[in-house]
Amino acid sequence: TKEAGKAGHRWYSEEVESRRTRRLLLESALRTARKNDELQLHYQPKWNLESDRMTGVEALLRWNNPELGSVSPAEFIPIAESTGLINELGEWIMRTACRHYRSWQEQMQLQQEGWDGVSGKEQEFPLTVAVNTSGVQLLQPNFVERTMQIFREEGVDPSGFEFEVTESFAITNFNDVIDILTELQQCGFTVSIDDFGEGYSSMKYLCQLPIHLVKIDKSLIDPLTDNKRSRVIVSAIMDMAHRLGVTVVAEGVETQEQRRLLEKYDCDMIQGYLVSRPMPAEEFARSLVGGARV
Ligand code: C2E
Ligand code: CA
Ligand code: CA
Ligand code: CA
Repeated sequence: TKEAGKAGHRWYSEEVESRRTRRLLLESALRTARKNDELQLHYQPKWNLESDRMTGVEALLRWNNPELGSVSPAEFIPIAESTGLINELGEWIMRTACRHYRSWQEQMQLQQEGWDGVSGKEQEFPLTVAVNTSGVQLLQPNFVERTMQIFREEGVDPSGFEFEVTESFAITNFNDVIDILTELQQCGFTVSIDDFGEGYSSMKYLCQLPIHLVKIDKSLIDPLTDNKRSRVIVSAIMDMAHRLGVTVVAEGVETQEQRRLLEKYDCDMIQGYLVSRPMPAEEFARSLVGGARV
């Protein structure tokens, strides 16, 4: 038993050790990822059920490293947050999304001119771009000023952008978060709660945070078709949000049956593989040809 104990201990520390090694590896590679051009933004459509059109996209960060391969944001974002790298990354994400947004806007205007035969006629760009924003990033000093500076420099109006904020962070600094979200809204940005229903304090967030939009977590959408309880919960969230004047997006929608149920519950928008997987900016731009449809 003494041997087994030793072996158990050794196995445990090896596992801890290899996790630590991987973390250090990721951390140091992440420091040079941007400089080495290893980062990309992909975009996933948000589909409005009423108009049956794409009305927005969510920007999702991708990291491809020559040695590590493709690393999931679910793995590297927490590392970026705990090392403070997220601030620099976050600014790059916003700036890059602004540039993509402008290029799509120009592309749509050119198309419009082509169709109308009238040049210079401005067409309202119908898409909203959502960026994920970490709580760590949001709470850094001068976040709102720095953000506004980026949008000014890139010549993009805040009204085309949305911040998706994950609920789990807000547990601490709740009042600071309320202030920052309010400021962002005053600047013209849309603010949404991401992963709603995944955590424990969802109701508090819905009651107290100043938000326009709530995204129902995939974990509540997955069991929709074969679990009555989840249908009750999802339709209740929908009802509650609507009474509060909050728009609802269902995330991770993969099947036609899920879509049908969500339509029945008056869900405003869906996002998921059923509509489209996230795609590189250039591919997304090609899909815009012929109007804002995917
Ligand atoms: P999230 O914000 O909840 O994003 C949704 C995730 O679900 C994305 O994973 C997306 O690719 C995936 N997804 C979308 N539709 C479906 C579907 O129908 N089925 C399935 N199985 N998955 C679907 P991804 O891109 O791996 O991102 C994971 C998480 O990493 C995100 O969750 C977000 O919290 C974080 N993240 C991604 N990009 C950024 C970023 O630019 N900044 C920050 N701070 N976090 C990011
Ligand atoms: Ca999100
Ligand atoms: Ca989400
Ligand atoms: Ca999530």
